Amino acid sequence: MIDAFARIVDATGILTGGDIGPRYLNTRGHGVAGTPLCVLRPKTTAEVSEILKLCHARGQSIIAQGGMSGLVGGAAPLGGEVVLSLERMNQIEEFDAEGRTLTTQAGVILQTAHEYCEERGFMLPLDLGARGTATIGGVISTNAGGVRVIRYGMMRESVLGLEAVLADGTIISSMNKMLKNNAGYDLKHLFIGSEGTLGVVTRAVCRLRPKPKSVNTAFVGIDHFDDVVAFLGFLEGALGGELGSFEVMWGAYDQFVRERCPSLRPPLESGHGFYVLIETLGNDPTADSAKLEGLLAEVMDRKLIVDAALAQSEQQRAAFWAIRENAGEGFRTLGPMCTYDVSMPIKAMGTFGIRVTDSINAAFQGATTLVLGHMGDGNLHVVAAVGSGSPEIHKQINDIVYGVIRDLGGSISAEHGIGTEKKDYLSWSRSAEEIALMRALKHTLDPKGILNPGKVI
Ligand SMILES: Cc1cc2nc3c(=O)[nH]c(=O)nc-3n(C[C@H](O)[C@H](O)[C@H](O)COP(=O)(O)OP(=O)(O)OC[C@H]3O[C@@H](n4cnc5c(N)ncnc54)[C@H](O)[C@@H]3O)c2cc1C
Repeated sequence: MIDAFARIVDATGILTGGDIGPRYLNTRGHGVAGTPLCVLRPKTTAEVSEILKLCHARGQSIIAQGGMSGLVGGAAPLGGEVVLSLERMNQIEEFDAEGRTLTTQAGVILQTAHEYCEERGFMLPLDLGARGTATIGGVISTNAGGVRVIRYGMMRESVLGLEAVLADGTIISSMNKMLKNNAGYDLKHLFIGSEGTLGVVTRAVCRLRPKPKSVNTAFVGIDHFDDVVAFLGFLEGALGGELGSFEVMWGAYDQFVRERCPSLRPPLESGHGFYVLIETLGNDPTADSAKLEGLLAEVMDRKLIVDAALAQSEQQRAAFWAIRENAGEGFRTLGPMCTYDVSMPIKAMGTFGIRVTDSINAAFQGATTLVLGHMGDGNLHVVAAVGSGSPEIHKQINDIVYGVIRDLGGSISAEHGIGTEKKDYLSWSRSAEEIALMRALKHTLDPKGILNPGKVI
């Protein structure tokens, strides 16, 4: 196999044994990675196709890897697979200002694509904390969400076309550039969000939007959950589609930041029940800031919000976002953590926060439970740090969090996917019929089950 692969990729495109660095094994705390047979780093779709043809003929399992920032173990080798890293397929192929599209290879880093578009007056809307490592292929394969979903949707909404290689090496080039194309089934959706189990994404056409001319960011303190919901509804109505982000942090998260993240500076007093980071994306740099200030004054008069700080500079804006995104120094002091990404109806989120926190605290003395997330999208994250974080404890917390989610009619995965981490719980959010159809699709596209085996279903 290795000799045959060496005839497909160049000498630096194949790694074996001790040359396989930790980058290709990284599981971000989700289980122990197995040892792959080898790592292949192709540069072209044709090479990916040849690799898959060979794997298909020999029944060899293979895992696509992007930036390895995924949080559910989807790209982690379990042992014996070929790792197919898209990291050298990192070319931006075409920028089309009139058509508002960007065509790239799958291994382009999200931040590189952002910077490229912004220099040309456009934006690729998908944005998330892992922007510096996640790849276009990875965010497509996980249908990533992030911090602007309330305005622009998940990655699915920004993919006009893509190219994927099937398990048997067939290249499906569906590089559509048009907003409308209803000529039969829209095949790209098979590969968006299927976590590398139905094909390898090699290229994509992304939809661009004009870069907003004004960005205004505020940090808001609110005491009661019902007021957070009312504040969201008020802003959505008053801003006419300009609301770009609505990120909520429960009071316990604010307390954690104050105690364990010395480099972060919360702009408001402690003690509020909830803190909300909002961002508007508009086109009138002079009027937009005043408009947001006026709206905040109005809701403060109505006692919906208790306190607010409006960022006065890019530096302050970055400091506000750092509270939401850069609490890593604090997380490292917590020891092993179980992290969750769930969705539910927005009005159920208050109950979810209370039930999850109370149940974990009741089961484990001294537990730290933090709740935060992209509330405007119905998506919350939970961080639970309990003692050794052993597999038994992890399972107990899974059962608590996913049990509440099941009761509330939510989803065990809002944006991170299933990978290996949530596989046992898929049936808590999907019916037997839905899972049977997923299996039928998998069998049709990958009859030998070589693509990312052991993941998702
Ligand atoms: C700090 C941090 C913040 C994050 N914030 C968010 C967030 O707000 N929203 C969100 O949705 N996610 C978030 N994530 C998760 C992660 O960034 C996303 O899942 C991202 O889409 C993964 O991209 P990647 O290139 O790193 O993919 P990888 O981690 O390499 O792979 C993820 C999955 O996609 C598959 N895959 C990768 N490339 C391909 C390809 N070319 N073809 C087929 N399959 C492929 C892999 O097999 C695997 O199943 C965050 C992660 C971190 C570390």
